[in-house]
Amino acid sequence: MRRRTFLAGLSAASIAPFVQAKGAVNPLLLPFKPLPAFDRYKVSQFPDAFKQSMTSYRAEIARIANQKAAPTFENTLAALEDSGREYNRVSILFGVYTSTMNDKSVQALEREWSPKFAAMTDEVVQNDKLFRRIEAVYKSKFGNPEQQRLAWVYYNQFVLQGARLNPAQKKQLSEYNQKLAGLYTKFSQNQLTDEEEQKIVFDSKDDLKGLPQSVVDSMAENGKWVLRNTRSAMETFLTYSDRRDLREKAFKLWSSRGDMGGKTDNNQVVADILRLRARRAKLLGFPTFAHWRLENSMAKTPEAAMKLMMQVWPAAKARVAEEVKDMQAIAGHEIEPWDYRFYAEKVRKAKYDLDENEIKPYFQLDKLKGGLFYMAKQLYGFDFKKEKAPTLRDDIEVFEVTRQGHIGDWYFDPYARNGKSSGAWMNEYRTQENFKKPVAPIVSNNSNFAKSKQVLLSFDDAETMFHEFGHALHGLNSKAHYPMLAGTNVARDFVEFPSQMHENFLTTPQVLSQFAIHAETGKPMPDELVAKIKRSSTFNQGFSTTEFLASAIVDMKLHLAGDVDIDPREFEKKTLSELGMPKEIIMRHRIPHFGHLFSSDGYAAGYYSYLWSEVLAHDAYEAFEETGNPYDPTVSASFRKNIMEVGNTLDPAQAYRNFRGRDATIDALLKARGFSK
Ligand SMILES: [Zn+2]
Repeated sequence: MRRRTFLAGLSAASIAPFVQAKGAVNPLLLPFKPLPAFDRYKVSQFPDAFKQSMTSYRAEIARIANQKAAPTFENTLAALEDSGREYNRVSILFGVYTSTMNDKSVQALEREWSPKFAAMTDEVVQNDKLFRRIEAVYKSKFGNPEQQRLAWVYYNQFVLQGARLNPAQKKQLSEYNQKLAGLYTKFSQNQLTDEEEQKIVFDSKDDLKGLPQSVVDSMAENGKWVLRNTRSAMETFLTYSDRRDLREKAFKLWSSRGDMGGKTDNNQVVADILRLRARRAKLLGFPTFAHWRLENSMAKTPEAAMKLMMQVWPAAKARVAEEVKDMQAIAGHEIEPWDYRFYAEKVRKAKYDLDENEIKPYFQLDKLKGGLFYMAKQLYGFDFKKEKAPTLRDDIEVFEVTRQGHIGDWYFDPYARNGKSSGAWMNEYRTQENFKKPVAPIVSNNSNFAKSKQVLLSFDDAETMFHEFGHALHGLNSKAHYPMLAGTNVARDFVEFPSQMHENFLTTPQVLSQFAIHAETGKPMPDELVAKIKRSSTFNQGFSTTEFLASAIVDMKLHLAGDVDIDPREFEKKTLSELGMPKEIIMRHRIPHFGHLFSSDGYAAGYYSYLWSEVLAHDAYEAFEETGNPYDPTVSASFRKNIMEVGNTLDPAQAYRNFRGRDATIDALLKARGFSK
C-alpha cells in the first residue's frame, strides 16, 4: 500500500497550548534545511502553525485570484504551484504525526482540525475568480505539453470539486465535505480502537501450540501471552496455531473490527458516508460516486474497471476450488475461513516442501535493505549513504541518495509502535519540482516490524519492502517541472504500477545470492530453496486474488449504488452471494473496517486500482524478462525515462505505450498467478 499523506481529524483542550515567545518563529513553518527539523517540532505547535499557514495561503490565493492582469500561465498556474507552500509543509508534517505518532493529543488535534482542512480546500476550489482564470488559461491551450497537462489537471480537479456550481450548491457541497471529513476520522478511530483495545490473552502454554518460538516470544507480556487484533499478529496466529477453537475465536474477533456493536461500530458511519458521497456526486453532475471518482483515472470509467475484475474473477474462483480440495485432503474436514491459512501452510509444505520458517532466517531486515540499494543502483544508478538527520525516533534511519550529484533523501521507519498505523506505506515529505529552481524529493518508507536484535522477515514482508521502496524510487526518479505533476502524483490506478513492478526484483538471482544471507550460518540462500520459492510463487493465488477481488468488487458496487439506504452487513452478504463467493474465504477487508474506502476518499471506488496496476506491472516486467537479464540496461533506461521520471506529465496510457510499444494485456498477470486463461 502507499498512502498519501492524509489529513484526517477532540477538542484541543487536552493539550497544552503552544505559547510562542515574542519574535520566535514556529519551527513547523520553516522550510526544511535541508531536511525536516523533527528534533524541534512539538505537537502543541500545530494549531498555531495551521492558523498562520492558512492565513498566508489565503492571502496568496487572494492575490492570484484578484489581480488585475489578464490570466496567463505564469500569473495563474505557475503562481498557484508556488502558493500554499507553508500550509502544504505543515499538512505533510501533521500527516507524519497522525500516521506514525498518533497518541491522544494528536487524535484530539485531528478531530478538531480535519473539518477545517476540508473547508480550506473547498475555499480554494470554490473561489470563482480563481476558477475563471484557470479556465481561461486551460482554454487558451498555452504552452508546452507539460504546461497544457498542468492546466488540464487543475481545471479538471476544480470542476470535479465543484468549481462550476452556483453559490447555494457550493455551500451544500462544502457541508457534505465537512461532514464526510468528520465521519472519516470517526471511522479510522473506531477501527484503531478495535485493533488496539481488543485482544486475546492466553495464560496457558497449551493455547500456544503450533506457534513458532519467535512468535511466542513476541507475544509474551507479564507471564501471559497477548494476541493483538492487528493484521500481522492475527495472520501469523491463523497460519500456525494448532488450536482450531482458538483460531476460530481469533478469526471472529479480527474479522469483526468495526462491527462489534457499541461505541466503535462502523456500520452506521459507513452508511452515512455512502449516502453523503452519492449526494455529492449527484450535485457535481455524475450518476454515482464511482463515476465521479474514476473521471481522471487511467481506467476512466467504472465499467472498464468492473470489466477487468470480472475477467479475472472466474479464474481466481476456479483456483480456490482446487486449493480447497488440496487442503481438505489433509484436514479431513470442511475448510472454514479460520482454517484457510493454517492448511494452506500445510499444503505449501507438502506440495512445495517450503516452510516459511525455512525462508525467514535468510531475510534479515538489515541485509535486505542492501538488496533494495542494489536494485536501485542497477536500475537507476542511485547510491545510498547513511546521513545524520533529526528523526522522531532513534530507530528511524535517513539516507542521502546520489547519482553524480544529490538526488534526494530517503527515510526508513521500520518498527511497529503504539500510535503508528498498521501496514506499510510510503509518503513524500517533499515532492520534486524544477520550475522555479530545482527542488529535490524527500521520501519515506514505513513498516511495522516487531523490533528485536535481529529482525527476520517473512517472504511477504520482504516483498512488501520492495513494493514500498518502488514507490520511494518513483518519487526519487521524478523529473517533472511542476510539483502537481511530479513523482507519485499520478492517477490512482497507475500509482501502484511502479511499486508492484519492483516486487519482482526480490527473487532475482542477483538479490537472493547477495542479500538473502542466513542469519546464523552467513551462507546465501541455496539454489534449491530459490527454486522452491519460484515454484511456489503461484501457490495460494486463488485465495489472495479472491479475497482481494471480492473487496474490490464490493467497493465498486457500494459506490455504484447511488443515493439509497445501505445496510453494510446486508449489502456485503447479498453481493458476495451473487458473485458466488467461495464460503471458505471472506473479503480481505470487510466493509466495517475497510479503511481504504472509509478513512478518506483515498481508495473509495478505487480498490480495483491495485489489480489494474498489477496488470501493468506484470506486463512491464515481462519486458525485462524477455531480455534474459532482469537488470537489462536498455529496458531499465527506457522504464526510467518513460515511466519513473514522467510523473503525471502525460496521459498514463500514453506513457505506458511509450515504454512497451503497445497497451498492456492480462496475460502476464494470469501467468504469474498460475491461472489458466
Ligand atoms: Zn503500494
